[in-house]
Amino acid sequence: ERDGSPRMRFAPSPTGSLHVGGARTALRVSSVVFSPVSGTCCGRYNWLVARQEQNGKFLLRIEDTDLARSTRESEESMLADLEWLGLDWDEGPGVGGPCGSYRQSERSHIYKEATDFLVRAGHAYPCFCTEEELETKRIAAKMAGSQVAYDGTWRGADADEVQRLLESNTPHTYRFRTPKGKIVRVDDRVRGHVEWDVQATIGDFILLRSNGVPVYNFCVAVDDALMGVTTVVRAEEHLTNTVRQLLVLEALGFKEPSYAHASLILGSDKSKLSKRHGATSCGQFRERGYLPDAMINYLALLGWNDGTDKEVYSREELIKSFDLSRVTASPAMFDDAKLRWLNGQ
Ligand code: GLU
Repeated sequence: ERDGSPRMRFAPSPTGSLHVGGARTALRVSSVVFSPVSGTCCGRYNWLVARQEQNGKFLLRIEDTDLARSTRESEESMLADLEWLGLDWDEGPGVGGPCGSYRQSERSHIYKEATDFLVRAGHAYPCFCTEEELETKRIAAKMAGSQVAYDGTWRGADADEVQRLLESNTPHTYRFRTPKGKIVRVDDRVRGHVEWDVQATIGDFILLRSNGVPVYNFCVAVDDALMGVTTVVRAEEHLTNTVRQLLVLEALGFKEPSYAHASLILGSDKSKLSKRHGATSCGQFRERGYLPDAMINYLALLGWNDGTDKEVYSREELIKSFDLSRVTASPAMFDDAKLRWLNGQ
């Protein structure tokens, strides 16, 4: 039923407040979904109108599989910050949508079903190694200079033995069966061509832990597949996750999305922007009385330009000009003074 129009997701982990980097990702997701737009609109420009013209969808997915660090309070504050910025979503918490829950903690049954499907299709298998055995393997791999800690002990196990162990409830994980000789390639829209020799660098990785909790990369891949995501825009730190996610997407038989991994945001001393640089969350700027339009303008220019030296954009102009291919591959510098200047415009 999906017609090829853009479906983009912003997928924050609710473990704190909305960081400026996260807000920038959400803005880019919105901008891609909305652009290019024809025609103008009267009154306050509403991004929803642009979206309707494109038939694109902005999905908001809450990645709260890390139960120890995720809180509802953080989720609520992130949603409030997105609303303050005017970045409204079409599917997700509060609005629903055709994909069931958009909170990973409420999708466990889906990850279980996906695991069963992969096992039946021969892409996954149960592994009965104990923690001690795995630790011995890790040490051996390290000594041998191998990047891959798991040697595939249960990969070709005897089916009757596996059945017997499953029936006796022996603790086990489920691992992905990495195809031999497989090279995973990505043409990232910001980083260019990247490839990985999967067996040499990753091996048969875990999908479901022995307590039944799915691993993060598995959840992301299953969700991107089932939610029909067409382009993944996210931070550079997730680039290496792409390889596991693409393997799972392919095994599930879904079309791979395109990827755009944005570069870091740095503080004035050129180290990664963090709390010690001062205000780094949207909420802090909001409390200081910054206007959402100034914030949007500022975030848009953080690692992007339209090829001119234009600095002041209305939302409407941003939607028209934004293009992922002009996102810079080098890190962007966070500059408070510029934000203050834009706020005074
Ligand atoms: N949940 C991740 C984060 O908050 C984003 C992962 C993704 O976009 O794939 O950093």
